[in-house]
Amino acid sequence: MKLLIRKYGDPALRIKGKPVAELDGSIRELAENMLETMRAANGIGLAAQQVGEALQLTVVDVSAVEDRPSTMTWNGREVNPNDHMPLVIINPQIETGTEKEIASEGCLSFPEISADVERAEWTKIEAQTLDGERVEIEATGLLARALQHEIDHLNGILFIDRMSSAAKSSLSSRLKRLQKETQRGLTTSRRPHAVQPAL
Ligand code: ZN
Repeated sequence: MKLLIRKYGDPALRIKGKPVAELDGSIRELAENMLETMRAANGIGLAAQQVGEALQLTVVDVSAVEDRPSTMTWNGREVNPNDHMPLVIINPQIETGTEKEIASEGCLSFPEISADVERAEWTKIEAQTLDGERVEIEATGLLARALQHEIDHLNGILFIDRMSSAAKSSLSSRLKRLQKETQRGLTTSRRPHAVQPAL
């Protein structure tokens, strides 16, 4: 089932996710729905906050992007990233290297907005998979960027918080407009429910 993607201005995006306590059927279903939602929107990552769930759960799939390569290790072994996509990442801990790289980035919660964002070139995460397996993943390239972007979401941090002030100020009128549109949508979608006659 496709879920509604929350846009900038929705308070759900700013809530730090709670750890997932139990990998039960509802978590499996949420992960499946998030993958379906991400694919339908042509995204390469989607965090639980973006579908209104404040949980430490995110999905990533960089396999469709050919011009921005990635490297990956899985429990210390070098692997082909595409063999491990899509990733369902639960309760991650992240470590990042000191070397930085600047590249263009977008976000499904900010339609048609992209900007250069500085991120660590290398990252290592420790997380649980949907099977409850503990895994250590090291990444560079697009995968490293996607993991940092998604894990930021899990902590209520958005890519605009990582932009240079120049980049952010050049987007400021578009950001304000998006925020207003989202907030207007939130009020109107609540209204019919509030006046619904009891039948
Ligand atoms: Zn995002």
